[in-house]
Amino acid sequence: MLLKDRLALITGGSRGIGREIALAFAREGANLAVCDISPEGLENVRKEIEALGVKCEIYEADVQKKEQVDQTVQKILDTQGRIDILVNNAGVTKDNLIARMSESEWDLVLSINLKGTFLFTKAVCRSMIREGRGKIVNIASVIGLVGNLGQANYSASKAGVIALTKSAAREFARKNICVNAIAPGFIETQMTQALQEEMKQKALGGIPLGRFGKASDIAETALFLASDKADYITGQVIVVDGGMVM
Ligand code: NAP
Repeated sequence: MLLKDRLALITGGSRGIGREIALAFAREGANLAVCDISPEGLENVRKEIEALGVKCEIYEADVQKKEQVDQTVQKILDTQGRIDILVNNAGVTKDNLIARMSESEWDLVLSINLKGTFLFTKAVCRSMIREGRGKIVNIASVIGLVGNLGQANYSASKAGVIALTKSAAREFARKNICVNAIAPGFIETQMTQALQEEMKQKALGGIPLGRFGKASDIAETALFLASDKADYITGQVIVVDGGMVM
């Protein structure tokens, strides 16, 4: 088992990519702490994970709120003693053309996607430094590499996550903590379900492998990066997009 008895904290883990990562880690023996902003879905994920024979604690927290982030991490440390793996997955979109984008649309996306990643990294790093090891996996996006029409806020937030990943990797390397990012392409989840069929077909035309990604495609990559198999990899962005960006 790749993650036997490791404690992994996943943000935004009640559905989509986060849920799939939590289940993939559980199948490899990790105990889970799953956090999400709303309680719906969390209880189901707990049951699914516990059915795999590992422990799972669930936490309601908004990744943009420092107090909630700190309290969540403290509770996990009080009960579990340490956090071995952090997956910063929680993220949102609020698409609009720049000329029409409101300040609140900009602020919300930057706050959840980028500040949330910073706050959880900051809260968890002390425990990892104390342990002398750790794995942080940040879920970025190919849009953070190439930009996209109507997604200035989202692309800036994910480019920020990539830059944060590299800075954190440099800061924590001497403490044996590896920090990497995954840049997914078009993955079938609730986030992409809302897109118009015409846009989906256009996106599909730009994917050389000829299919949309599955949440499990991202989970497999996260599993690798969180495991000992990736001990000599840090500061990298792994693109998982069926060849969209190359
Ligand atoms: P999703 O299905 O919308 O799931 C996102 C999860 O994050 C939801 O459970 C959501 O909770 C939670 N969340 C939202 N705001 C939060 C907050 N402030 N605090 C805590 N949790 C919060 O999206 P997904 O497709 O799985 O995306 C997961 C990650 O992958 C995101 O970072 C996204 O940007 C990235 N990504 C996705 C794609 C894609 O094609 N799907 C591509 C590239 C990157 P609620 O349901 O309660 O709002």
